[in-house]
Amino acid sequence: MSTVLQAASELLERLAQAGYKGFIVGGFVRDRLMKRPTGDLDIASSATPQEIIELFDRVHPTGLGHGTVTVMVGDLPIEHTTFRTEGTYSDHRRPDSVQFVTEIEDDLARRDFTVNAIAWNPLADSYVDPFGGRQDVHQSRLRAVGSPRDRLQEDALRILRAIRFATTHDFELDMELRHALAATAHKLKEIAVERIENELDKILSRSSHPSRGFRLMHELNLLEVILPEFIPMIGQRQNRHHAHDVWDHTLQVLDACPAEPTDFRWAALFHDLGKPLTAEPHPNQQGDFRFFGHEKVSLQISGDIGKRLKFSKARQRRVDQMIAHHMVHPTNDWGDSAIRRLLRKLPGEDLDDYLTFKRADVTGKGTDDVNTLLEQVDRIEERLRREQALGHALQRRDLAIDSHDLMTLASRPGGPWLGALQEVLLEAVVEDPSFNQRERLESMARTWLANHFTS
Ligand code: ATP
Ligand code: MG
Repeated sequence: MSTVLQAASELLERLAQAGYKGFIVGGFVRDRLMKRPTGDLDIASSATPQEIIELFDRVHPTGLGHGTVTVMVGDLPIEHTTFRTEGTYSDHRRPDSVQFVTEIEDDLARRDFTVNAIAWNPLADSYVDPFGGRQDVHQSRLRAVGSPRDRLQEDALRILRAIRFATTHDFELDMELRHALAATAHKLKEIAVERIENELDKILSRSSHPSRGFRLMHELNLLEVILPEFIPMIGQRQNRHHAHDVWDHTLQVLDACPAEPTDFRWAALFHDLGKPLTAEPHPNQQGDFRFFGHEKVSLQISGDIGKRLKFSKARQRRVDQMIAHHMVHPTNDWGDSAIRRLLRKLPGEDLDDYLTFKRADVTGKGTDDVNTLLEQVDRIEERLRREQALGHALQRRDLAIDSHDLMTLASRPGGPWLGALQEVLLEAVVEDPSFNQRERLESMARTWLANHFTS
């Protein structure tokens, strides 16, 4: 028995002794029945938060307003929520009020899907399963508790939760739920973007084939509500280098990217967004399209979506670095200085990201020569790593003269000029590493200063 399950059983035992009814509920029960790795464990019981505080030594008031407290069992935190029903959802986000109730059945009735509405008592190994959740688990079916339309209207986030569970747990959507999803899609507009980003992130990180979620979102009209920028990719034909249209290619790249961090998968979703806007028929190859500079347009759209979904700065930067460089293919005729210029643009983990993304992008082409193309990426990697190992200066801090010395040389305080000068010196050094000597840089700096600050 897992330690968290042991701790939960201990807690439930104490509750039973004190005369309360208690169960493990939610995702833990579902995942355990599916023999999948379980996540956090939630307990629901008839004890009020106040009664829990009196019964246990260490209790944190996590969400008192909604009846949730965290009980420490040993050093394990267990969430406890009093059996409750919910009031109306006037803002489609959270219930306006909750009422404590005494029966588990009433609590289960407020939950979103039958597979999430099973209560399990591990002490007696007995279930309370009024909506047939276990059978749905068994048949891999996602079904709403009660009327799907009503449930989705109450809290539109459930729309995305449905897509998430279908994607991560390979559930088939029950027909009635499917219709309701399409019919209520527009309600997603009313949901806070943070909650949407959070659900999308779970779809991206918790499945080996997140493409399924995005195909469902397209089929059920959700895509045009939350990510309308994606629509033009659907059906956009490409050329002989691709077996798929832009949308299918995007989804293949998506699945080929690592799951964590989800930045890779966001980059996959965004990297070819600019293709439909830059598409032009190839002048000589009939039926082929070309997409000059599409990565720049993709970057713009990535910025727009990132702003809307409130991406962190770090995420936006990382995603954009992958998009910006996905069309860079170093070939044999590249000189060492060109390789160094690329390395300079890919500091830190950006180089690994670039290579990982490139492999996923190539894999997503779906053509017969994918293996040959992947071998080409191996050779690109070798070349980049070899150059990197030489340890030549690639960043300002690697210059043989530091900013303090440059200010002394110029007899002036720092300012925008300093960065500009350092860039010039670095460019020269990246072009020819033998320049990275103090005297040579000093003399170059003097010339630059004389040209820029004529007295
Ligand atoms: P996981 O923790 O793996 O993401 P989960 O099913 O445990 O999945 P939680 O968000 O932890 O999801 O919620 C716990 C339980 O609370 C769910 O199983 C479900 O019964 C209920 N629940 C959560 N969010 C909602 C919602 N928006 N509407 C109705 N019930 C919900
Ligand atoms: Mg959970």
